[in-house]
Amino acid sequence: MPKESVLVYSPRYNTDLSLFGVNKPFALDRGQMVLDRLLEGRGQPVPYVEPDLISLDDLRLVHTDKYLESLKDSSVWQKIFELRHKEFFAGEKNIPLSELMDDIRLKCGGTLKAAELALKHGLASNLGGGYHHAFPDRGRGFCVLNDIAVAIRSLQKRGLAKNILIVDLDFHQGDGNALIFKNDPTVFTLSVHSEEGWPEEKQQSSLDVGLYSHQVKDYQQHVEEAVSKALDSFKPDLVIYVGGSDPYELDVLEGTKFIQLSLAEMNKRDKFVIDTFADKQIPLAMVFAGGYGPHVWEVHHFAVKHMLNRAGC
Ligand SMILES: [Zn+2]
Repeated sequence: MPKESVLVYSPRYNTDLSLFGVNKPFALDRGQMVLDRLLEGRGQPVPYVEPDLISLDDLRLVHTDKYLESLKDSSVWQKIFELRHKEFFAGEKNIPLSELMDDIRLKCGGTLKAAELALKHGLASNLGGGYHHAFPDRGRGFCVLNDIAVAIRSLQKRGLAKNILIVDLDFHQGDGNALIFKNDPTVFTLSVHSEEGWPEEKQQSSLDVGLYSHQVKDYQQHVEEAVSKALDSFKPDLVIYVGGSDPYELDVLEGTKFIQLSLAEMNKRDKFVIDTFADKQIPLAMVFAGGYGPHVWEVHHFAVKHMLNRAGC
């Protein structure tokens, strides 16, 4: 049993976006919900490790100086969060959106911490993060900074891991990582996603499985085949599992309607990924990525609970 917790979280993840004038009721803090349900099930609080802010030096391993500088401008954030008129109340009393920077840096630090814990203990999870759409020079699709790419570059720079596999099963293609690691043989990007969903213009991952609605009935088979194919050609020191809950049938984002998996199907998927790499003793760090509305925590709750069981916590 690991001496320290393998979960990474901070109460500061639970940002109150209304203080910034943002009205996006579906963007809920799933980490706290998962911890609350784990507490209910166990009768005692589940410990977690608190992350540090990701350093600016680490951010610069992926993002351009020009883009990082532009984040001092709140209108840049407004675009990244796709805030329509009724979702944003720009008032004098509101905190400027640019002051969300430290919150996001903390969540990025959480992904790096989870990756470090996974290398030590085999399994770990950041109870948040997974901003796989962010490009080096611009944020998009709710993703400001690409925590996954930054964590990978930071680990590689310090010689903690060389070959890293990203298993991205979010509803949306992991296009930011596909672009960032396109010509990099040390990072294998696997993305199983909806071909019909956003983004319309997909990037090229090392292995893409873009599913059309009629293929979703065989979702699990597609996932298992893709993971097996990735492992045929790539030997990872570490896996980053982007376990988005937006393929779940109770996800409320209109754009995710093309994949509607039951809770049992989502649980089967997450158990398969965690077990596959735990059985092979390949370290795996999980991040939450996409998932919207009051029910998606159920998916992450099962995945985290299963991970804790496998880690002997
Ligand atoms: Zn998504």
